[in-house]
Amino acid sequence: MKAVSKSFFPLFLITALAALSGCNGQGASPQATGEVGDQRQDAPPSVQTPTPSTDNQATTTGVPTPDPVPSPVAVIDPPPTIDPTPTVSPTPTLGASCVSSDPNHQCIGLKMVSYENTAGETVLSLDQAKTVIQGVNDLWKVCDIAFQIDEYVSVDPTQSGLLYGTGASSDTTKIRQTYSNNTTFLVVATGPWNLNYIAWTQLPGAGPYGVVVDADYSDKPVTVGHEIGHYMGLDDLRSSLGNIMYYIVYDTDTAITTSQCSTSRSTNLNYWKAMMRQ
Ligand SMILES: [Zn+2]
Repeated sequence: MKAVSKSFFPLFLITALAALSGCNGQGASPQATGEVGDQRQDAPPSVQTPTPSTDNQATTTGVPTPDPVPSPVAVIDPPPTIDPTPTVSPTPTLGASCVSSDPNHQCIGLKMVSYENTAGETVLSLDQAKTVIQGVNDLWKVCDIAFQIDEYVSVDPTQSGLLYGTGASSDTTKIRQTYSNNTTFLVVATGPWNLNYIAWTQLPGAGPYGVVVDADYSDKPVTVGHEIGHYMGLDDLRSSLGNIMYYIVYDTDTAITTSQCSTSRSTNLNYWKAMMRQ
């Protein structure tokens, strides 16, 4: 698991033209957080060494801010104990379940968060979320890894003091603190950023964890599948066009090697046991 626990350097990914170096290992200090950033496909080809360190909030290593606790509603009036609500309801699976009897199969639960704009329109509908995860599963099935949506929420980010669009790209730690939990992978689709970056993902090693992705890319299976690859400890690849972890995410970047399968699967066992469903 060495490859996983180390290498906290920001990487960038460009999704289109033969742009260059999205990846920036050099500027990263050893103390950098394990956050990997990815660039949009139409990034200018001259982006040589962006300064990702600005997005690596040093505060990540501080004491995590607890999720805002909803102010307790007056408890003066306890509900009559006559009909106890059955609390048996297990976490509902939204969309297809990936649970299997195959002991080798890895099934991971996801929490999908979709931001709403001021008009109340959500950036990634539940149907879109199901579709994109279906696409992600098609990519990762070669590793016998699959994902299911355990929770989907559409939220007004401003109610949690979060920014909807561009600002979300530099607020990733707070976003993760707000929406992450210890039992699911987190994927947050924010409003559009209109920046070169399209997504940030925290590598295993230091939380809070989660994929934070620009709305314009949140429905793209290769983008989401790539970010989840980071979640499972994979780094960007700079010379393997066609691989899912290629730093430029083309729709045709779908290959996953045996070695990447092996890394991902052992990362899941070592870090994400609580996220795995059986
Ligand atoms: Zn990447």
